[in-house]
Amino acid sequence: MPTKPLHILVIGAHPDDCEYLAGGIASLYTRLGHRVKLVSLTNGDAGHLDTAGAPLARRRRLEAAAAAKVLGAESLVLDHHDGTLMPTLELRYQVIEIIRDFKADLVLTHRSNDYHPDHRYTGVVVQDAINMVIVGNLVPFSPPIYIPVMMYLWDHFQKPYPFIPDVIVDIDEVYEQKLDALHCHTSQMYEFIFGKTDVPLDQRREWLRTKVEEDLTAPTKMYREKLRTLLGKEKGDQIHYIEAFEVCEYGEPLTPEKRLSLFPFLT
Ligand SMILES: [Zn+2]
Repeated sequence: MPTKPLHILVIGAHPDDCEYLAGGIASLYTRLGHRVKLVSLTNGDAGHLDTAGAPLARRRRLEAAAAAKVLGAESLVLDHHDGTLMPTLELRYQVIEIIRDFKADLVLTHRSNDYHPDHRYTGVVVQDAINMVIVGNLVPFSPPIYIPVMMYLWDHFQKPYPFIPDVIVDIDEVYEQKLDALHCHTSQMYEFIFGKTDVPLDQRREWLRTKVEEDLTAPTKMYREKLRTLLGKEKGDQIHYIEAFEVCEYGEPLTPEKRLSLFPFLT
C-alpha cells in the first residue's frame, strides 16, 4: 500500500465514459492501492432505443456502480438529464464540491471540443471549476484544496486542434478488467451503442470485445510512432491498448516530479 494514496477523479458526461476512456488506468491505480472515483455528470436517462427517464437512470446508476466495483473504484452519478447538460453556475459549484470532497490530486475529463454537447459542457464546467477549488469563499461550506493537475481524456477530434498525448499509459495488463467494466453497462453496450443485440448472454462479453476493438485500439494506432520513440521499437510495436491524456493548462502544471508521483506505473 502506498504511504499516501493518490486520489484520481475521472469526470465523464455519461455513465460509461469514464470506463471507456480511463478504465484501464483506473484499474492500474487501484491495484497499487490508490483511490479512484468515476463520476458521471448526467444520469444517462436518454440514450436507449426502448426506454427512458427515471427507470433508465436508475438502471444506469446501478451499471456504473457495478463497473466501478470491477475496477476497484468508487462511483458517483449525478442526476442531470442526459443530452441536456449545460455549464451552469450551479453545476460548476457541484463540481467544485466534488473535487474538494474527494481531495483530488488528478482530475481527468473530456476536452471541450467533442461531438457530444454533454461531453463539451462537461469539459467546460470542469475547466471552470478546477482553479476555483482553492477559493474558499466560493462554495463556502466545502473546505478549499490546492489546485490539482487536470488532464483531458482522449478523443479523435482534429479541430480546432488535435489531442496531444502528453501521457500515454500501456493498459494491456488490465484490459480484461476494462472489458469487464464495459460489460457491466448492459443498457449501453447491448441495447444502445451497438444497437439491440440478441447475442446470448454467455457470448456477449466476447461479442463486445470485437465491437469495441477498433475504437479502443485507435489511439494505439494513432500514436504508434510516439510509442516506439518512448519505449523502443520492440516494446512500442508490442503494445495493443493504451489510454492517453493531455495536460490542461488551467490545473496545476504537470512537472516532471508530479508526473512521476501521479503516474507511478510509468517507467
Ligand atoms: Zn458520453
